[in-house]
Amino acid sequence: MSTARTDMSDPVFQLDGKSVWGAGHRGMVGSALVRRLQPEKCTVLTADRDDADLTRQEEVEGWMNASRPQVVFLAAAKVGGIQANASYPAQFLYENLMIEANIIHAAFQTGVEKLVFLGSTCIYPKRAPQPIPEEALLTGPLEPTNEWYAIAKIAGIKLCQAYRKQHGCDFIAAQPTNLYGPGDNHDLETSHVLPALLRKAHEAKVSGAKAMTVWGSGSPLREFLHVDDLADAAVFLAKHYSGDGHINVGSGEEVSIRELAETICKVVGFDGALQFDASKPDGTPRKLADVSKLRELGWNEAGDLMSGLRSTYDGLLADPGQMAK
Ligand code: GDP
Repeated sequence: MSTARTDMSDPVFQLDGKSVWGAGHRGMVGSALVRRLQPEKCTVLTADRDDADLTRQEEVEGWMNASRPQVVFLAAAKVGGIQANASYPAQFLYENLMIEANIIHAAFQTGVEKLVFLGSTCIYPKRAPQPIPEEALLTGPLEPTNEWYAIAKIAGIKLCQAYRKQHGCDFIAAQPTNLYGPGDNHDLETSHVLPALLRKAHEAKVSGAKAMTVWGSGSPLREFLHVDDLADAAVFLAKHYSGDGHINVGSGEEVSIRELAETICKVVGFDGALQFDASKPDGTPRKLADVSKLRELGWNEAGDLMSGLRSTYDGLLADPGQMAK
């Protein structure tokens, strides 16, 4: 899924011949971006934690001054599921604010030609209209279970807009929906729902369990996008979009958590029962991105959930140790 698929004519920005930093390349999103950039005619740069701790301004400025990327994909972030957000509010807010402020400011200082900031659709108000248009930003209170992360990501969008407005920087922001794919976090306490349920179904099947637990009521609706599709859309936006407004990235399809659990059981081959744990939070009732702006720009490449789940599970079966990390 990681080969170049989008080949539109007349890009507004060329990656050819540029040095491109995939910031956060050890994470699920950053590693998908690095895979997606391979077929481009650019040089991909990465920085390990030993090279630069991204929460430290001096280290970011030092690395960027020495490495001089011309393009930045800002995928570095402290991420986690509904419970991780609630357990580590200070880390989610502080680390994300520091990472994005350091990189965006240093990108301005070093004359970066294009920066793509990756956020999340959890930036939108809890009661936003569905599907959620980009204009819903800052029109109401956030979903409390992920407001720490959301506040930081909203600040990142605003930083891109502010540097564009004050300094004319071509910094854009993309807001992906719930992502999954290779390199995901499967820790049952801190992960998102999809990798958690893949692991639970796999372990239930292997141990011959009669049931597996699903948090909450099963009724919340979520949209899921394979991370390779996000990487393709981010590269597409780098080439074809230069504007002040952030752009939603999603599949345009939603499923209930119950349906997701049932589909995962099918893919994994677990035919036991689902037990819903009402002591766990449901979070926001619905979160479907309005992707009409992205489609108007010309990207409509999201694959279907079933194939994405199959390829993700095949990858896990080939290296089951990933689920124990
Ligand atoms: P959210 O999209 O920010 O709410 O984050 P999550 O991906 O963590 O959770 C999405 C929904 O899936 C919530 O309603 C959770 O309660 C539900 N869910 C069901 N089972 C699980 C599980 O095992 N882990 C997680 N993280 N969420 C689960």
